[in-house]
Order: sequence, then C-alpha cells, then structure tokens
Amino acid sequence: MKVGVLAIQGDFEAHAQMLAGLRVERIYVKRPGELSEVDALILPGGETTTHLKFFQDEGFAQAIRHLPEQGRPLFGTCAGAILLAKEVRAPYQQALDLVDITIERNAYGRQLASVIRHGSCVLKNDPLEMVFIRAPIIRRLGPRVKVLAECDGLPVAVVEGKCLLTTFHPELTSDTTLHRYFLELARETG
Ligand code: GLN
Repeated sequence: MKVGVLAIQGDFEAHAQMLAGLRVERIYVKRPGELSEVDALILPGGETTTHLKFFQDEGFAQAIRHLPEQGRPLFGTCAGAILLAKEVRAPYQQALDLVDITIERNAYGRQLASVIRHGSCVLKNDPLEMVFIRAPIIRRLGPRVKVLAECDGLPVAVVEGKCLLTTFHPELTSDTTLHRYFLELARETG
C-alpha cells in the first residue's frame, strides 16, 4: 500500500513521519497526476485558503473528490477536515463536499488559538491527546456521519464512508490510533 500526503502547504511532513513510523510507503502529492499512484490520501493541517487556490488548477479538486468512490480513502486533519466538508462557515468557502457536516473555521476564538486537550475516542480506552491549532468546530452532523472522538462535548473526529476527518492534529502527537484506523479503511475492500 502507498499513502499520499498532499504537500502543497501545511504540516505534511508530520504526517509523513507518522506513516514512516508505521512502516507505510508514502509519497508527497503536489500535482493531480501523482494521485494515480496512491491507495489513500492525507490532507494535512495548514490554511484552507491556500489549498483552495491550488485546487483551482488542473482539476486537482475533482481528482481528489473521486478517490473515495474508487475505494481510496481520504483523511483530513484540521484544514484538511475543512476541505472535506459539505458546508463551511466563517466565512463561507468552497469545499470538496464529501462529508455531510457543517464546519466553522477558527471557531475556538483567538484565546484558544493553540491548545492541547484530552478527549474520548471509541478506538481506544484511554483518553486521546488532541492538539488544536486555530481549529474548526463541527456544528452539524449528517445522518451517515459516525463520531469517533469527542472533546468538551463536541465531535472532533468523524468518519463517513471512506472519509475520515479530525478537527485536531493527531500527526503532532505520538498517538497513532487514528492513522492506524485510516490504514484499515484503505485495506478494507468496498
Ligand atoms: N484555521 C485554518 C483554516 O481555517 C486551519 C488551521 C489548521 O489546519 N491548523 O484554514
């Protein structure tokens, strides 16, 4: 299996290191053509406005959009989560419309620009360490969206079909729970 990490901008190197630790083959994806090589794709944290500028080129957005229906999962963290959402607020912006949620950007306000919390996750018994950096908040969950983790009463990791997203940065901790779950999604057929 080969996992792509979208490497336009943001903390893509942290995801690559996480995958290296899990001994998974990985490549940085900078162009739509490179998507043909990957079995799954990670959209890292960073700035969605910058990502969206690149998405306008060469049908990049469309190429990413079709990956889940080809059985190739997507994992978006923070900015990546915003990119996967159906509806984005504060302000409204385009997204890939793959996960039926409404997500509000920079929703914790300035004083909580960057914070480490612990929350519950259905994938493990112990609390999960969560790094939030100018994080969004999921304000609405569609009926097919499953919550995997919560923090302070809010959903912070969700999955719908082949799309996993977290509003925090698991790649900035040593906890591999969500990356391993993502790899399982990639190994499952159908
Ligand atoms: N605030 C960024 C955005 O809205 C996301 C921040 C992040 O990925 N850490 O695009």
